[in-house]
Amino acid sequence: MADYIYTMEIRLTPDQLKGVGLVQDVARAAGMNLYLTGGAIRDIISGFTIRDLDFTVQGNPLKLQKDFEKAGAKITAVEEDIRTIFLSLPGNARAEVSMARTERFEKTGKPPIVMPATIHEDLRRRDFTINAMALSLNEGSRGLLLDPFNGVADIEAKLIRILHNYSFLEDPSRLIRATRFAARFHWPLEERTQARYDAAKEGKYIDHILRSSVGHEIAALAHEDDPLNVVRMLEKEGWLEILHERWTVNKVDVNGITALMKTRQQMVDLGYTPDAGPAVMYFLTLNFSDKEIADIQKMIPRKDLVEAWRDIEDHAKELAKRVMGKEAATPSRTWQLLSSARPEMVLFLAVTAKQQSVEQKIKNYLTKWRQVQQKIPLPEMTELLITPQLPEYPKIAHDVFMLLLDGKLRSRTETLKFLKPFAPPPPPPPPAPRRGRAAKAAAEAAAAPAAQPGKPGPKGKKAKGAVASTAPATPAPPTKAEAKGKTPEKSKPAKPEPKAAAKPDSKPAKKTASNSSAKKAPLKKKR
Ligand code: ATP
Ligand code: MG
Repeated sequence: MADYIYTMEIRLTPDQLKGVGLVQDVARAAGMNLYLTGGAIRDIISGFTIRDLDFTVQGNPLKLQKDFEKAGAKITAVEEDIRTIFLSLPGNARAEVSMARTERFEKTGKPPIVMPATIHEDLRRRDFTINAMALSLNEGSRGLLLDPFNGVADIEAKLIRILHNYSFLEDPSRLIRATRFAARFHWPLEERTQARYDAAKEGKYIDHILRSSVGHEIAALAHEDDPLNVVRMLEKEGWLEILHERWTVNKVDVNGITALMKTRQQMVDLGYTPDAGPAVMYFLTLNFSDKEIADIQKMIPRKDLVEAWRDIEDHAKELAKRVMGKEAATPSRTWQLLSSARPEMVLFLAVTAKQQSVEQKIKNYLTKWRQVQQKIPLPEMTELLITPQLPEYPKIAHDVFMLLLDGKLRSRTETLKFLKPFAPPPPPPPPAPRRGRAAKAAAEAAAAPAAQPGKPGPKGKKAKGAVASTAPATPAPPTKAEAKGKTPEKSKPAKPEPKAAAKPDSKPAKKTASNSSAKKAPLKKKR
């Protein structure tokens, strides 16, 4: 059986995984059963990008708002009628927590009657089989996948299939969703689904779409990896004009969105996670009037998206001003300024900057200046013991990079000259060899913990074990001597030399070759 928890752990970004932990802790403390559902499960199994985390709880998540905030999440929207809260989790991870519910559609075009339900019932109200799965995150059943409609098989077959014949009639926004998923995954609709889809189109079911669903579908465009392709498909199917009567591909800044998605990918490859949503919306609607844009924004339930979209130009202008000013007078200062800016603003400015100098600086930041990092002499730094174990290492590495960026360290020699004063003192010399009985006793004690159970330590080998054993303060597994009833004190060197004994304790033995060879000496001497 597939291990879905393992698959989830390797597929989610570290921030998303932390987000799962956060939501799980809050739900558990409140005694609510929690499931990862919908698109998150589909994408975990299929290998596509997981853009947001959909959770379902058996209970009312609106009651958990304060707990989520205390745990570090931001509430970005609340939908009271379906008892759903939208969260922004630390590190740009988006999530939605819904109440497990049934939906009874009594009248075409009217919102359904919502009732609390079990997760099994909830899965029956979903749109497509690939979205109707739930992964238990509860103690006792954690990792159990609920897949009543065989969504896994449809993922394997790459098919979009509705759950029942009335699906499009009940909720015509599923027509738009079907097109969006077909465009995103390049998967076809299953044959009978296609027939129902055609009939729904013919019957103009879409006229009965709920306003709230329109808002959801507009917002969903913001998070597509290839929004242009999706918008083109929506236009072709006649759905774009449902989202706004005057929306066509002509309203889209095609060049802008193409450049945006390219730069976004470039930033993702560099390890950034910019939320491109607001910028995507900006370009998708660039040729609309302000009034039309405001109308579209009014329909979007996620106010954080709307605000960021509204403010994007002003924030970019502010950043551009700073990039042109004294604050970014040198490459190193520009680097620091851009590193501290929000990645989404760097992304947006990269494709919209009107000033050539700004454009060039951002380009350098994303490409040329990264190559300067390769000039940091890492092997020599290791030799100098300037390694990440040093508490001051991040600062040293940062400073050397900044100096290299500004051309202030022009050669390797200059760089090493700069680095040398930061090298920690070398390890102390080996302890003086002892003679006579005391030396024998010390060497025996030193060799004892190195010995494997039942075997005496081989001559001259196991230097690392010997290092550990000369450190009386180092907690070690019971030695053979201890097992035989000897007290650990008895096996200690008769007269421990404080310096030699303290060293391995303060510096892990594995760090330096010189450490271990230093410790080999007394053993060799003895023998
Ligand atoms: P995306 O990757 O775009 O987030 P998604 O499938 O997760 O895709 P969401 O809008 O996040 O879509 O919705 C989460 C889940 O809620 C869906 O997977 C689906 O199970 C359910 N859902 C959303 N909209 C509908 C709908 N109109 N009808 C039925 N179920 C829906
Ligand atoms: Mg989703």
